[in-house]
Amino acid sequence: MNNLHLFKRSTKDLWAIGKKYYTLVFIQKFSSASITFLSFIYMTRIVQALSEQQNNQIVSLIIQYLALFGILQLTTSCLEPYIDRESKLVHRMITDLPFKKMLRMQYHYADSAKINEKLNHIRIASLNAQSSLSVQHFHIPLIFDYFIRTIGSLVLLTPLWRSSGASTGSAWDWVNSPWIYALFGLGILLLLVLQLSASREAQSVMTSTSAESQQANNLVNYEINILNDTESGKEIRLYQLEDQLKQTQTDSFKFISTWLSEMIYAGAFKRTLVIIMAQVLNYLTYALIGIRVLMGFLPVGYIIQLSSALSQLLTNLPNLIQQVSMILSQPQALVDFYEFMDLPEEKSVGTLPIEKRLDNEYELAVKDLNFAYPNTDEKVLKNINMDFEVGKKYAIVGENGSGKTTFIKLLMRLYEPSSGEILLNKIDAQKYKLTEYFQLFSVVFQDFRLLGLNLGQNIAVNQNYDAELAMSNLKEVDLDDFINNLSKGLNTHLGKEFDNSGVQFSGGQSQKVAMARALYKDSPVMILDEPTAALDPVAEFEIYQKFDEIVEDKTAFYISHRLSSCRFCDEILVFDEGEIVQRGSHEELVDQPGKYHDLWHAQAQYYQ
Ligand code: ADP
Repeated sequence: MNNLHLFKRSTKDLWAIGKKYYTLVFIQKFSSASITFLSFIYMTRIVQALSEQQNNQIVSLIIQYLALFGILQLTTSCLEPYIDRESKLVHRMITDLPFKKMLRMQYHYADSAKINEKLNHIRIASLNAQSSLSVQHFHIPLIFDYFIRTIGSLVLLTPLWRSSGASTGSAWDWVNSPWIYALFGLGILLLLVLQLSASREAQSVMTSTSAESQQANNLVNYEINILNDTESGKEIRLYQLEDQLKQTQTDSFKFISTWLSEMIYAGAFKRTLVIIMAQVLNYLTYALIGIRVLMGFLPVGYIIQLSSALSQLLTNLPNLIQQVSMILSQPQALVDFYEFMDLPEEKSVGTLPIEKRLDNEYELAVKDLNFAYPNTDEKVLKNINMDFEVGKKYAIVGENGSGKTTFIKLLMRLYEPSSGEILLNKIDAQKYKLTEYFQLFSVVFQDFRLLGLNLGQNIAVNQNYDAELAMSNLKEVDLDDFINNLSKGLNTHLGKEFDNSGVQFSGGQSQKVAMARALYKDSPVMILDEPTAALDPVAEFEIYQKFDEIVEDKTAFYISHRLSSCRFCDEILVFDEGEIVQRGSHEELVDQPGKYHDLWHAQAQYYQ
């Protein structure tokens, strides 16, 4: 996409988000610029009337001016609070765009360090890169203002062009020569070229230092995150990290201040030249206007209109060019943004609908499955073949890092296989609509997240919920007594972020809420992926067994690196370095020489 294309796309997107805001801003800028131009026009007409001693006209001109001034002033000020509110809303929506996209994109992108880095990059660029949507949003009122004032001053300058060419036969006739205007135009053109070149210089410094400034920004952000996280306080004190943090801060500030002064000096010479040239042009044109009035080529009142319009033109046109060129010539932020926004989304993956079956006959299988995480070479899963029977309980065990969670992520299609297939009812799972496929799984992850909503909403993951069902799920995980003792019951907020009377649940209680959430979803396939890793092995075994009783005849997968937790399962799959090295029941495997036997006996000593 070329720069102009990107710019067009971003303008279209901004317009789609903030139609109302941009219309209001345009009206406001139009009326505030009109106040300025109105004063030029009426001063001109009043001075003209004075010079012609038409006193009646003066009064009516003053009344007209005051009335128009009042209307425009009122419009400008009345719009201010609406514009302020709308601007904040639009800015909020713009900032949310990449985060909302993150929720819609396929999970393997959202989980990738590279994409997260890109998101961070976009977030930082949104604060300072000229072409980012947020910065464009803040600059649009300025652009409107410069644009309206440029056009307005060109219109007000028309008498100057119109009166040229007249001849009186005097020695000053040359002031009417079209060459003068050609020279004037040339001067303005030179001014613009210089202005453009000055902003290019500044931008090239910005681009050449962008990697370093990015790193300095990253450092500052990293520190802010650490300092914002009260949990870091423990380590900062115990390991006396304060000095180290101060040093990093000093280094990054030093870089930022050097960078800022470089930015100030970049293009400074040309910028000064622009200012001097603009002044010279200004004086020359004033002189020209003066001579033409003295020679009687122009009415005296026009001195005010023309000279004021000229100074408006010489201020606003270079500013307009500079603003637009800054956006157009520094498009990297937009390139990054749209690359991110164009990543494939879950809703567009797969076409086959999933048949709704009351008998839960959803049969899963994997064939020749191999997998390496994106941008890595190492195979995390190797040659896995399995047919899973509906209603059977599977344990996935193995040491940390053996590929258990990755296998489950692939089964749920959070990632796509590098080669091989996941099959659902004998059809390649990739063919099914992804969002419908996700509905087949109720899962509790090791790093499950509960939301700052109330308890009922957390369980239903919805604003509206079936209170009776949520309560019966909480009963199944033995949390009903605790909830019944809370004054707000299911309406109790988790944490205090949204409600001061919210309750901070303990780790174990949160786990139970996460399990109740999985039960509420009531999908055909249930998965526990070590949400209990922080508990002792006996407690974990009890929870897994209890959960298994609740899910009754559904297909279930229980993951743990502790063999004891899953010994009740129908079939145990032993993972080792990404392969299934053994399968069978606990009784079959425990006495067989192999990984299971070795791990069982190595772990058993801790359970005795
Ligand atoms: P387990 O669940 O058995 O502890 P995992 O499936 O979490 O193991 O991890 C298997 C391997 O894949 C490990 O070597 C781990 O470092 C690697 N891994 C896990 N997640 C990612 C990821 N998002 N990107 C790259 N490598 C990963």
